[in-house]
Amino acid sequence: MPTVVQKYGGSSVADASKIRRVAERVMATRRAGHDVAVVVSAMGDTTDELLALAKQVSPNPDRRELDMLLTAGERIAMALLSMAIRELGGDAISFTGSQSGIITNDRHVDARIIEVRPFRVQDELARGRIVVIAGYQGVSYRKEVTTLGRGGSDTTAVAMAAALGAEYCEICSDVDGVYTADPRIVPAATRIGTLSYEETQELAEAGAKVLNAQAIEFAKEKGIAIYARATASPLPGADPSADGTVVRQHPPRMPGTVIGVASEKDVLVAAIDGAGGSSRTFLELLDTHKVAGKQLHLIDDQLTLVVSRENLHEGARVRDALTQRFGDAVRIVDTLGAVSVVGAGINASFQNLRRGAAALESVDIHAGGTATSSFRITWMVDRTRLDDAVRALHRMFIEVAQTPVP
Ligand code: ADP
Ligand code: ASP
Ligand code: MG
Repeated sequence: MPTVVQKYGGSSVADASKIRRVAERVMATRRAGHDVAVVVSAMGDTTDELLALAKQVSPNPDRRELDMLLTAGERIAMALLSMAIRELGGDAISFTGSQSGIITNDRHVDARIIEVRPFRVQDELARGRIVVIAGYQGVSYRKEVTTLGRGGSDTTAVAMAAALGAEYCEICSDVDGVYTADPRIVPAATRIGTLSYEETQELAEAGAKVLNAQAIEFAKEKGIAIYARATASPLPGADPSADGTVVRQHPPRMPGTVIGVASEKDVLVAAIDGAGGSSRTFLELLDTHKVAGKQLHLIDDQLTLVVSRENLHEGARVRDALTQRFGDAVRIVDTLGAVSVVGAGINASFQNLRRGAAALESVDIHAGGTATSSFRITWMVDRTRLDDAVRALHRMFIEVAQTPVP
């Protein structure tokens, strides 16, 4: 029987009745003639709640202990879903990340999967069982429990799909696919039927939460088709792009077309006068504290770095270490967010850059910084105006026809 991997996010398993509904969907998939491996996230806001609890006990929680704590969230969900499937007459068994053979490096809190040894999962599938896997977690070669960074259940699902040679990997959420912008911010956003790996990865890296960037990287490497769908949607039919988003290898679109707008609120900007080699010491210090940078610019000894705070839970400690070492030479800005427009070849000329700047100006938003790559233009704007910036750029690039600006 062909294997499919389905992943259900936190909102889809937020309470007992939702877990029951997921169990019914899993059973329907099984009845449709598939072997099913299901990856689950922690229920509702469990991960946020556990993080908040950790902060109450320790403002700079130890990364290893955080992993021990956070992995409990998915463990609860996997056991409950397995029970719910059994209640419906299915034969289910749940596994932690470690039991499923998800082997990672030893970087706690945002570990990377380096290998999947899915033997136990394969054995149970071969016995006709439905296997329920805790997302977002793995185990290092040193047998330490690790987590894969926020949103990491998507990565578990894609990695498992690759290891099992699955037909496709379905990522089920509260939204029925990838939209041209977060539909919670932009009511006019529309669902995108098909996306290439590169487009999706750029959207995810720019902050579109619906799919995790590392998961897409994996899918691209292994050629796994991803179907992003709503948990409430029916099972994928002959054309899964009709009621969801299909991410796979796609022929390039017309170059220069903006396909979406994404934003990230939780960023920090750190700037340092790097004269006398201090930029190297600065980066060394960030590595020691496992701080992952997003964008780095070093021009004439002035280094500016944008850091995502998503997986940085010891911010206060890092900040203290930086000021202790560099004093006034380092400047940390905690008032900005990043908004990006994404599309292949959008920077072949400066037209899109000028157009975006005009859209922001039209709603009185001043960009505190701009960065471009061949796939993306990112503006740093006042965090309190970030959603307005997303709407203005969406209006300009997606809602209004793309006519050249003078
Ligand atoms: P899950 O818990 O199922 O993993 P997430 O909260 O991680 O779900 O992702 C789904 C959310 O992503 C949606 O509720 C939506 O608000 C948000 N989102 C952000 N950008 C986009 C986008 N471009 N398309 C669709 N949803 C998006
Ligand atoms: N529960 C984890 C999180 O909230 C992983 C996930 O949902 O994918 O980030
Ligand atoms: Mg998610």
